Amino acid sequence: MDLEKSTENSRTLKPKIIIIGAGIAGIAAGEFLSRKGFTDFQILEATGRTGGRIWSVSVDDDGHKAELGANWIHGIERNPIFQIADQNHLLQLRHADHTLKRHDLYVMENGTRVSEKIVKEVDFSYGMLIQQCEDFFVSGIPTSDENDSVGEYLVSEFEEKLDKYSNNDRKVRQLIFNQRLLLECCISGCDRLEEVSLSEFGSYEELPGVHYTIPPGFEAILEILKKSIPEKNFCLNKPVKCVSWDMSSEKTGQKVCVECEDGEKFYANHVISTVSLGVLKAACDRMFVPPLPKDKKEAIQSLGFGIVNKVILEFDEPVVASDVFRIHLLWDSQENGPGTDLRSTWFRKMYSFEVVHDHVLIGDQVQDRGTCNGETNHIGSQHTRQLLMGWLSGNQAIFMESLTEEEIADDCIEILKKFLQKKDIPRPKRVLRTRWGSNQYTRGSYTFIAVGSYHSYIDSLMEPLTPVDSDTPRVLFAGEATHPTFYSTTHGALLSGYREAQRIVSLYSP
Ligand SMILES: Cc1cc2nc3c(=O)[nH]c(=O)nc-3n(C[C@H](O)[C@H](O)[C@H](O)COP(=O)(O)OP(=O)(O)OC[C@H]3O[C@@H](n4cnc5c(N)ncnc54)[C@H](O)[C@@H]3O)c2cc1C
Repeated sequence: MDLEKSTENSRTLKPKIIIIGAGIAGIAAGEFLSRKGFTDFQILEATGRTGGRIWSVSVDDDGHKAELGANWIHGIERNPIFQIADQNHLLQLRHADHTLKRHDLYVMENGTRVSEKIVKEVDFSYGMLIQQCEDFFVSGIPTSDENDSVGEYLVSEFEEKLDKYSNNDRKVRQLIFNQRLLLECCISGCDRLEEVSLSEFGSYEELPGVHYTIPPGFEAILEILKKSIPEKNFCLNKPVKCVSWDMSSEKTGQKVCVECEDGEKFYANHVISTVSLGVLKAACDRMFVPPLPKDKKEAIQSLGFGIVNKVILEFDEPVVASDVFRIHLLWDSQENGPGTDLRSTWFRKMYSFEVVHDHVLIGDQVQDRGTCNGETNHIGSQHTRQLLMGWLSGNQAIFMESLTEEEIADDCIEILKKFLQKKDIPRPKRVLRTRWGSNQYTRGSYTFIAVGSYHSYIDSLMEPLTPVDSDTPRVLFAGEATHPTFYSTTHGALLSGYREAQRIVSLYSP
């Protein structure tokens, strides 16, 4: 074995490496290799852009961005994304004090506003229940075999807490709880929390600290990483069709062949695949020759990969008061049952509308709104533009992808009219919505540990492919789904890219 290893590596002192995918995992792998002097690599990206599930789009000519994919830096401590953003001063606008002064509204379908006191009480109970869900994994407490889902656990435990309330008080608490479940579906990336494994839920590690956005756009992080990678190392519009990882090429020692959809072939010593779990689920059988080992296939099929989408509405005039940060939609649960027609109910999966940009136009000048004086109308020559963003997951999210922008606008106007009890909601100037489910190079949004799968499956997923007669890894796997504790996140994806690049570098280090 050792002889084979030294032969395979010493043939090419500088290995040729192919990275599949130019999302943050692929770019991080490339940046790491460059930093270590491994310059002979190509990043093959299926689409015409880099970034993958990080995608910031301009919403005006003044540099304001909307995020179609990753939105927040989840936590500060030990978060490499936060470190890059902080060191490069990408966060400064976030400290503007207007975000601190704005408040949330909790509104029922008939426009009734719910007091903050009740919301806080429900949130306290809900937070405790989420903590209990995490404890099953963290403390190794066994869950019952018939009831290993986060959804069933939360619903049954919350029902007990509701016992002491009656009538309207009980109903309102139930609606707030239901809304928290919809939010949790988007956090976990599932259709229903009944799909999420209770015993494995605590395997995701939440990093301490608040959640930041990046005002110049999340893609600014990628631009910083990309500075170390020569442009010629990127090959866009190059979908990979097949990776043959057991070739014999005596002369070059390059034993992996990557064939693209257009027929072009690349030979390499090592390949780092960063394609999403959704892409692996759909294509792993035809993408790898020889086929993937059984345990890796089982991991791919069993781990969960859900759909989370966003609906972003751009209004030319204000729709909500400028001191409002988010409208929490407390849908009436009776009208939200299963079996309902998705055309008339899809939007009931949206749990809130957040004001992502709210700025005043004075003539040609634009100012971010810094104070909260509650004004919602045109003032003299002033004119306020607003961007509202809603999130939804699962079947309703995939259904939304099939609608036209006009249909989405019509439905959202009705929601706003109902919850805000306003007759005159203007038509949005623009509707931006994501289609992560039908995007063939993503096929979903992010990973969760589904009922029946295990956290240990992530170890199988990240295990490199090494031929039986060798101990030199040929195909390595990175991407958010392969991070054991930060799966589903940008920092997990970035660290997985570093991990696999390091694995290659260490093969060639004395
Ligand atoms: C709506 C949404 C909101 C999110 N919010 C957050 C958030 O707030 N915070 C956070 O940390 N994370 C968030 N995430 C998750 C985060 O965006 C991802 O975890 C991360 O960007 C994944 O990076 P990656 O490099 O692993 O995969 P990707 O970004 O998917 O990169 C893989 C790349 O491979 C390419 N590819 C696929 N197939 C092929 C092929 N056959 N040949 C060549 N190339 C191929 C793809 O085009 C893509 O560019 C969110 C994701 C979504 C969808």
